[in-house]
Formats: sequence, structure tokens, C-alpha cells
Amino acid sequence: MEIDYEKIGLKVGLEIHQQLNTSTKLFCNCKPELFKEKPEITFLRRLRPTQSELGQIDPAAYFEFQKGVKILYEANVKSSCLVEMDEEPPHPLNMEAVEIALTAALMMKAKPVDEIHVMRKTVIDGSNTTGFQRTCVIALNGEVKVREKKVPIQHVSLEEDAARKIGEEEGNIIRYRIDRLGIPLVEVATAPVINLPKEAEEVALAIGRILRATGKVKRGLGTIRQDLNISIKNGALTEIKGVQELELLPLVVEYEVQRQLNLLKISKELRENGVKEEAIKEEFFVVTNVFKQTKCKVIRKALDRSQQVFAVKLPKFKGFLKWELVPNFRLGTEMADRARFWGRVGGIFHTDELPAYGITAEEVEELREAVKAGEQDAIVFVADNPENAQDALKAVVERAREAIKGVPEETRAANPDGITHYMRPRPGAARMYPETDIPPTQITRNYIKQISSHLPELPEQKLQRLMKEYALNQKLARQILDSDYGELFETIIKESGVSPTTVAAFLTETLKALKRDGVQVNKVSEDQTREIFKSVSAGELTKEAIPDVVIWLSEHKDKNVQEAINDLGLKVISESELKTFVEKVIVDNKRLIQERGEGSFGILMGVIMRSFRGRVDAALVSKVLKETLTEILK
Ligand SMILES: [Zn+2]
Repeated sequence: MEIDYEKIGLKVGLEIHQQLNTSTKLFCNCKPELFKEKPEITFLRRLRPTQSELGQIDPAAYFEFQKGVKILYEANVKSSCLVEMDEEPPHPLNMEAVEIALTAALMMKAKPVDEIHVMRKTVIDGSNTTGFQRTCVIALNGEVKVREKKVPIQHVSLEEDAARKIGEEEGNIIRYRIDRLGIPLVEVATAPVINLPKEAEEVALAIGRILRATGKVKRGLGTIRQDLNISIKNGALTEIKGVQELELLPLVVEYEVQRQLNLLKISKELRENGVKEEAIKEEFFVVTNVFKQTKCKVIRKALDRSQQVFAVKLPKFKGFLKWELVPNFRLGTEMADRARFWGRVGGIFHTDELPAYGITAEEVEELREAVKAGEQDAIVFVADNPENAQDALKAVVERAREAIKGVPEETRAANPDGITHYMRPRPGAARMYPETDIPPTQITRNYIKQISSHLPELPEQKLQRLMKEYALNQKLARQILDSDYGELFETIIKESGVSPTTVAAFLTETLKALKRDGVQVNKVSEDQTREIFKSVSAGELTKEAIPDVVIWLSEHKDKNVQEAINDLGLKVISESELKTFVEKVIVDNKRLIQERGEGSFGILMGVIMRSFRGRVDAALVSKVLKETLTEILK
């Protein structure tokens, strides 16, 4: 489907969350590190709604409470203390994190606030032991330049990361690990000025580069997360959370546009067919009898557990539930997502996809009679306990009513394939209130001046410098800039004198290729990489043999480069050894040389290189061979 994004009025804003590489967490002295081992501490909590400082009970919090959810938190001593457990007030704001956020903000020309006020943002999914997330604005109104466009930065904030979900268990228990809770995040929010899917990726990349240029951010998957807000004309503002891969952003935007356009078409057709919101009734039928003999495994299992089948009629909805919004995702899927969230059910069945799943045409016919449905009506049903089933069908009814109106405002979560799913309703505006345990932090002019005086190079400047100073082409310079190795690259050049292009190509393309082949390149330390290039520069190792050394080192813990060279037999042969060998090759190939003269050079070069795989420098072979050959031909 070709989409004219200008015509449909696409507007996208980005929120980038990047973990900072500080020595302690944002509000305590714990190490900002995740652990893989068994937890040393576990504790169980229940969410309980209370009046907020503003005197209201959050309806969403109340709903979660009703579900009776229990949360099992896991911790170890190194990465969490009483602060993360909400047994002790937070300590003052981590100034190391403030300085990094201010640095990034100033690089984006944002104006720092005079005083930092920590705020609480209600979070009720258990990912924060407190029931809120602490956040504070650091600077306002900046900009980043992407191609020729100035993208306004609305604010740069500092936040505490949330606990990470480990799993869900039977009996409504959710497990969270609080090692991640309190790790400082910088949040950068753009104005909704992005008008093309691809532009979302470009803007995120530009902001990511500035954040990395501070040299103080964490690297690797999970350390950066992108949220988007997307809207089109006549559609609705959708918030999409948690896109981890930059390359996925354009697809997420494209899918969201397709989803909204299809929802608008559905709405138009439903209205043209005269479908009314009030015609969709919260009238639920118990239709367990229809499925007494069913071959459908899901329903069978539910009935064996003495659960029931509940159904609701959606008048004149026949065919609309199977309408594909994005690949393999239909209006029926939207309803199922809602039913799962609000009704805690595994899923729903609807007549647009039947007969299937072991449900027969006869059963569908009987079902139609049981709920008095006409030919043009759709029926949605679910097998569960009465409370869950009715909550699920209520959510289905609500979603069906919204389908008549158009696109509902929602917060959605992105999957790794770019498809998004319902996460929760969009929160109201009054979700923030002051954190009374932390005094405001003054940001003095002198402090700003001091930070401004040693701002890191902007990525574009660094790119130009890499190209000029090291004679790198733009592609390689860009790759170095975007890699984890910008600093290492410059160090290696300084101490080894190996050609910058060789080092850059190794750090980007060679390492990437090795990784693709399954080599665990991250097991080779920066110090070892520096040793490798020192050996090359000392003439002890050839450039060609570098990958073999990296593979060997990745497989041999605590060994050094010298040991790799010895073990692999990569000791570079001397020039005199090489000469002797070249002379022998020339004697062996006398006839070839007589026939082809200088034209035999390429073949001989190949023979010699193969014999000394990785143990001799190609340039040296070329030189020696050329000299010897010229002499003989003379
Ligand atoms: Zn702590």
C-alpha cells in the first residue's frame, strides 16, 4: 500500500530513554548493574490503592488491586538496598548523572532549569516498589539538526529506570528483579515534527549519537529504549512504548499508520451500514450447553475445570473482526488484546474465524440461535470463570463501540517484529506530583559555565575530524563514530602507527563479520586489541593474521597475544627466509616464467601467500618477488 504521508498528516514525536553509565544509582549508592545469579533476597508485595497526595484514587490502580495481583521482588545486596525496596527514603540526587544529562542537554542547545525538582509519576504495574517513578526535568527547548531540518527538543529529563519483569506465575504472582530499578536514565523528548517513517530513525540516530558522545552512557541491547507518539489526521494519538532496535522505528510507524487508516475505513463502513454504539449491549449469554460435546481443546479444558462459556452479540459486525489492520493482525486481535488485559483471559473466539479450532459449523449455528444473532451479526465468546469472562466481554464491547467512532487513544507496546499490542489506556494529565523526600537542587550559572567549557565534540564535528585527521572515507568514519570503538580507535593509532584505514576496517567490518560467524568477540578485551596492533606494528604479526588471533583469544581465557601467535604458528618469517623461499618458487616455476615473463607475477604471488598463510606481509612478498623476478628476467 503506497501511502502519501503528507496527505494523511503524519506526526511523530520521539522519546529516547538511555541508561547512563554512572558509578552509582540515581537515588542511592548501589551499583547500577544487573545480576544473573539466584537472588539473595526476595519479598512479596501487594498493590493497594490509596488516595494520592492530590486526594484521588487512581482508577487504574484500583483495577489492578481488584485483580489481586501479588508481586514477588528479587534482589541482591550489591545492586539494591532499602531505597529500592521502598523501606528508606531516597538519598539526594546523583550529581554525576545530573552532569551527564546537563552535558547532553547543552549539546542539544537546551536551556537548563534553575532548580531541579524531582517529581513522582504514578506507575501501577509493580515495576516500581513505590507505585511511582521519579523523574525530573533538567533542561528545556533544545534542538537537533537532522539533514536540513531543525527538530525541537521539548525537554531533557533524568529518570530512574524501573524493575525488570522476570515472569508471571500461577496465582496472580508477577516476578520483578529490582537490580535495574534506580539506574539513571536520560530522557530526550522531541516535538511531534517527524513526518516520514524513515525520519523517525534518523532523528533517533542523531540523538543517540549525541548521547554517546558524552562517553557516559551504557551500551548494548536494553540500554536504550525508544517510545513514539504517532497520529494522523482524523485518527488518534497513539503512544508506543519500548522499541529497542533503532532500525525498527520506520516499520513501527508504517504499521501504526496502516492500523489507523484501516480503523478509519472500518469506522466509515460501520456507520454507512447504520451500526450504532447503543445497539452494542453489555448483554452476556451463558452458552456452555452449545459446547457440551465440543472437540475444541481450549473450551474442553475450561469446561473440565468447571468454567463456563460466555458470549456477546455484536450487531452488524460480521466480517469486520477479520479485517486485517496490519499483517496478521485484525480487529479481532485488538479485541483479544483488550480481553486479555481487562479480563485476564487467555484469548477469545469470534464467528469471523469459525468454523476452526475444533469448533464445528453446527456449533456455530447453535451459538447463533442461543444469542439470537442474525446473519449480519458477529459473536464473540470466551471460556473462563464468570468474573474474568464478563470483564473480557465488557472490554470487547467497549472496543467494538470505539470501532464505530474511529481510532481509540491508547498506549501500546511494540514487539520485536514491529507489531504493537494494547498495553493500557492513555494516562490522564494529572499523573505527576512532587517528590517530597528530595529537596530541590540548584543549578548555578557557574556550574553551567563549567560544564559548557568542556563539552564533548558534536558527532558531526567528530565525523569531519576523523575523515581529515586519519584520511578515512566517510563510510568508515561514520562506522567508527557509530561503533563502541571511537576512543579505542584513536588510542590504537597513537600507540601503534598502523594505518588508520586498517584499524578502522578491523574495528567495524572485520569484528562484525567475526561476530556473524559466531565468534565471541566481546571476550577479547580492549587491552588485547591494543596488543594485537602493537604486534603488527612491531612486525611480529601480519594484518592478514589478525582475525585468527582474535578467534584464538576469544576461545582462550587469560592468554595473551604472544601466546596466540606462538600457538597458531603465526610467527612472521624473516625477509631472508622469504627471499630463499621466493628463489625456490622461481626455480620450480621456470617454464611458467619463460612463457609469461612478468605476467607470471600474479600466479607466483598466490603460491607464496598460500604457503605462508598469515605469516608474511603481502606488501613485503610483492616487493621481494618483484625484485627477484626482474633480476632473473634481465
Ligand atoms: Zn540502593
